[in-house]
Amino acid sequence: MTHQFKMGEMFDGALLANAPRVRLSRRGIIMGLAAGSVFPFVSGCTTNAATGDSQLLLFGDDQIASMAATAWADTKAQTPQTSNSKLKSRVLSIWDRTINGAVKEGHINPGTQWDVAVFDTDDVNAFVMPGNRVGVYRGITELTENDDQLSSVLGHETGHVVGKHAAERMSVSTAAQVGLMAGQIAVASSDELSKYGSAIGALGGAAIQFGVILPYSRKHELQADRLGVDYMHQAGYDVKQSVRLWELMDSQSKGQRPPEFMSTHPDPVRRAEELRSYINARGYALI
Ligand SMILES: [Zn+2]
Repeated sequence: MTHQFKMGEMFDGALLANAPRVRLSRRGIIMGLAAGSVFPFVSGCTTNAATGDSQLLLFGDDQIASMAATAWADTKAQTPQTSNSKLKSRVLSIWDRTINGAVKEGHINPGTQWDVAVFDTDDVNAFVMPGNRVGVYRGITELTENDDQLSSVLGHETGHVVGKHAAERMSVSTAAQVGLMAGQIAVASSDELSKYGSAIGALGGAAIQFGVILPYSRKHELQADRLGVDYMHQAGYDVKQSVRLWELMDSQSKGQRPPEFMSTHPDPVRRAEELRSYINARGYALI
């Protein structure tokens, strides 16, 4: 049984141009199991202190950060970064201020270091990768009408970090795979397993493909939207602009070239509505 995915959409839709297709094979799973890279980390559900959600987390932050290192290096190698120092410093300062909002909210540790890249392409997109890596494309800085709207994008991305959405998504995918394979593993001889014993991390590699390619669930997206608004509010940005952002996305989605952000963030009208009622309920603004 082999699953095949195109390495096209990752995290919040970072595009890896010309990236190879990734195959997740039965052998990969067996290798991972034999190498002991799975079961030692099984610790059941944990509660996310920031969101209060109970999550299945098979991977620690450090593990997924190192698994994402290659994907991040590839993205930076394949995508030009802006040489526009004004744009770069604008993005950095909005990022800093938004993150500071998350720090004030008590969701991000003060002094956390981030690697922020501003890519010089028309893609209307932004993403975070495990390991505090942030990608922002020039296209989304041009679509957004003001700093508040860009903060809303970055706050949303920060929401994915705080919600540990990548780790949860990878964990659920891995658990499903391991479950599917369990019958076959049980009958595999120990000789067969030990042959692969040195392949540490094989399943980790496969798991991150699952974790990064699938879009986040609707639940994760809406949670990231809400957290993003909390951080904007703490940072002193105009939270109403988050609603305007989704209206903009909606109007763009009917055009010739819908924003890439839309492929992993569907349903802009509903999101605008949900944000509006959240903002009203929190008393951040009346809209
Ligand atoms: Zn998202």
